[in-house]
Amino acid sequence: MSIETLRTILYATSAIVGFLVIYSAARQKSHLARYFFFAALCAFLYIFGYASELGAHSLEEIRFWLKFEYFGLSFVSSFWFLLSWKLWYSRNPRFRMVVLVFVIPAITLFLVSTQEFQGLFYRSLRLSDIDGHHLAIIEKGPWYWVQLVYQSAFIIMSIILQWLSWRRRGGVFKSSGFWMFVSTLSLLPWIVIYQLGKSHNGIDLAPFGIALSIFFIAIAVLRYGTLSSEEVFLYSIFAGIDDGVVILDRDGRISDFNAAAQKIFPWLNSSSIGMPISDPADASLFNFDAPLKMEKVVELAGNKRYYQGRFTLIYEGRSVLGRVYFFRDITDSRRLTNRLRKLANFDALTSLYNRRRFMERAEKVLANAQRAWKNIALLMIDVDHFKNVNDRFGHAVGDRVLAAVGRIIRRRCKQKGFAGRYGGEEFVVLLRGAQREQALDIGEGIRRSIEGIAIEKRMIPVRVTVSIGVSSCSEKEGAYDLDELLMSADRALYLAKNRGRNRVEG
Ligand code: GH3
Ligand code: MG
Ligand code: MG
Repeated sequence: MSIETLRTILYATSAIVGFLVIYSAARQKSHLARYFFFAALCAFLYIFGYASELGAHSLEEIRFWLKFEYFGLSFVSSFWFLLSWKLWYSRNPRFRMVVLVFVIPAITLFLVSTQEFQGLFYRSLRLSDIDGHHLAIIEKGPWYWVQLVYQSAFIIMSIILQWLSWRRRGGVFKSSGFWMFVSTLSLLPWIVIYQLGKSHNGIDLAPFGIALSIFFIAIAVLRYGTLSSEEVFLYSIFAGIDDGVVILDRDGRISDFNAAAQKIFPWLNSSSIGMPISDPADASLFNFDAPLKMEKVVELAGNKRYYQGRFTLIYEGRSVLGRVYFFRDITDSRRLTNRLRKLANFDALTSLYNRRRFMERAEKVLANAQRAWKNIALLMIDVDHFKNVNDRFGHAVGDRVLAAVGRIIRRRCKQKGFAGRYGGEEFVVLLRGAQREQALDIGEGIRRSIEGIAIEKRMIPVRVTVSIGVSSCSEKEGAYDLDELLMSADRALYLAKNRGRNRVEG
């Protein structure tokens, strides 16, 4: 191939690159477009400069084009690395990192521009004539090797990041990620061949590597919309929504996740990409036979948060590519539900069941007990002369007394049953598996405890007593009927009141 042909190829390539520069400038909305713009601009300067260098007629002209080239060449792999980095990490690199990435290229550019004064980059430059063209023969200086190693390292890192990004997006052949990866990979062989001294006439092959690379990028950009705004929109939705999203490939390996998912599953980090879910506690959530809807509770800084998870399959054509899991934060509605449930079922003053909830549960327990022929007992508890307490000490003190009475009843019955506030100063207790005598004992315990407490009101102890009526049912007695039990306990309570109060009857 003649040098004239090579120059034509290079000019044509620089025209395509120039188009990509303008195209990416118009796509500034894309999260990658800014880096792409600079990388393409650098590639343009380099390729255009090199094509011009090949056509130069004097050493002076060559020197000029060399400097021109390095405005691009010094930085192209840095920008490409930053682009690959962002593609993989989905966020902008820190300023410190950007500075670090550009230190060596900046020095390179400086040394090339001032090469007449030090010769650190290349020691000497002379002309050799090939096919009637002047080619520059360069004797390399120490810094040349520094920047070569540096550029190669950044290209290799970019290849790795592009590979990972492509795999993360499902590793689909001929997709946008595939062409981006191929494009990055295609930079490498040319540099190797050139450095091994295998290139024809010692012509630098890097521009052709870049040209080929640009060709693949053009496929990615034009055919698969790599820099298109839809992809950007989709990705920013993915990254920004409050729902945690985790994507698994068809083998159950993690393809991608967003920041919200990381909050729910702290074990997710960049090294989990490509790995199966290893966390033993959460692995079952992502099982292939996990229920379509599941729940996950996370404790964040002592605060419980509730997430409802579900998944959908991703198809390409008829084959399953993987699954997307969504985890929605349902903490607020869950808290509201809990609060409403509490309001609906519990008495605010004593925290015991309210009458409705007590009856509901008691009916169930009674039905079960009847099936198993278990004993059931019921206590009806009423505070004695409670009107007097209110009248003498005020309603607020009355409330405190009721709360204290409620606490005692709960403590005394919680092992064998449950209690509810039946009315103003009336309580009910249901005891499972308790015979009449046992129920009378428990009632007696409650009575005595309440007798023993005193609520202070301005140094005056307020004491109350209760009367308790007991009813029970067993296989012998029959009558597994809540109304029956309540009526019978009420009769016993009436008896207790009549016989002088502060006593248990049944
Ligand atoms: P007895 O020994 O016959 O049961 O006499 P008693 O005064 O307790 O009987 P009664 O049923 O006539 O009075 C119950 C009183 O309890 C009436 C009501 O003002 C009071 N009460 C009901 N609910 C509450 C409450 O939530 N807080 C307070 N402080 N008082 C209440
Ligand atoms: Mg009463
Ligand atoms: Mg009373």
